[in-house]
Amino acid sequence: MRRASLPRQVADAKRIMVHAPPFENTKRGADEPNETMDKVFHFDSAPEPYVADAAVLTCFDQRIRQTVNKFLQRRGILRPDMIVVAGGAKTLASPRSDSERDFILDQIRMSILLHGTKRAFLVCHSDCGAYGGLAAYNSDAGAEAKHHFEELERAADLLKTRFPELDIACVLVNFEGVFVNGAQAPDEAG
Ligand SMILES: [Zn+2]
Repeated sequence: MRRASLPRQVADAKRIMVHAPPFENTKRGADEPNETMDKVFHFDSAPEPYVADAAVLTCFDQRIRQTVNKFLQRRGILRPDMIVVAGGAKTLASPRSDSERDFILDQIRMSILLHGTKRAFLVCHSDCGAYGGLAAYNSDAGAEAKHHFEELERAADLLKTRFPELDIACVLVNFEGVFVNGAQAPDEAG
């Protein structure tokens, strides 16, 4: 079955909106089916289809979120497809199960398919709970970083095998900044 083009999908979505019943602010009884949703927040966002600047596989740890977001912006990654899961790149390098790894690979496949993604950023970070934190390395940040770089390489190798056309960057985040592998030009400070 052929996939509808993105403009076609958007046109279909608009048609659905036209024919859908309007959202109503109605109180429902306990036995009434929940067929309406109440608007509780207004925010305008661009509905146009987009090409993703990159797929980004990163941990859900809140402590690194702002660092990752600012790093991506600095790199010109303004429309990332964010794949945010416990452990980030660990889910490809040393997944807890085959299904975890396969789910993540499928997310990246979907990003390529739906949003024309050509780049991927794989992220590990210091004191990641999925690795047992810094404590698992006896609080040795150097040993932790070395292991994370190896993990990132494992994740990149797997991704490259599955998606040879993808441009892959390995990223290590700690509480002082962002580190990439030597093959990539360092970013200016600031
Ligand atoms: Zn983490």
